[in-house]
Amino acid sequence: PAVAELVAGRVLDVPDFPKPGIVFKDLMPLFADGAVFREVVDGIIAHHGRESFDVVAGIEARGFVVAAAIAYATGVGVVPVRKAGKLPRATHSASYALEYGEATLEVHQDAFTAGHRVLVVDDVLATGGTAGATLDLVERAGGTVSGFTVLLELAFLGGRERLAPRPVHALLTV
Ligand code: IMP
Repeated sequence: PAVAELVAGRVLDVPDFPKPGIVFKDLMPLFADGAVFREVVDGIIAHHGRESFDVVAGIEARGFVVAAAIAYATGVGVVPVRKAGKLPRATHSASYALEYGEATLEVHQDAFTAGHRVLVVDDVLATGGTAGATLDLVERAGGTVSGFTVLLELAFLGGRERLAPRPVHALLTV
């Protein structure tokens, strides 16, 4: 089956998580299935092309899982983009609005070699706030965003439009 169908078959809908009225998409069954996880990782690499990036950045925390696998498979390094207060040295930070309050992401100031092409990955694209902050951080830290991929895009939340004109690659869009 196509990668989109593999993803669709390994996502669980969890009603009322983390709050009443929200249907959370749980990708843990996908990560737990070795054959599907490998197809997903290989599918991302094939889409962008092995030669199109010098390093992979993963967004905390499920993005780390995917980023590390891509990095290992292609022989590049992996950079974690973390929630505020987790990184020990000098960081760049970017804040973005949530429904209530705001969130902050950070990356080490020396995380990227200047001009290195960075493939950014996360599990789910919802409103695009997380991804937008991350793409800004990568560029402020001296990287060049070569691509952004998620396993699952929730199109009704408008993340793709928020990130435009930056392209978004999603293995599955619902
Ligand atoms: P956004 O900033 O609204 O686009 O939310 C995307 C971030 O929140 C990503 O880092 C996701 O891991 C997480 N997220 C939002 N909704 C879901 C979901 O339904 N399932 C899993 N992760 C989600």
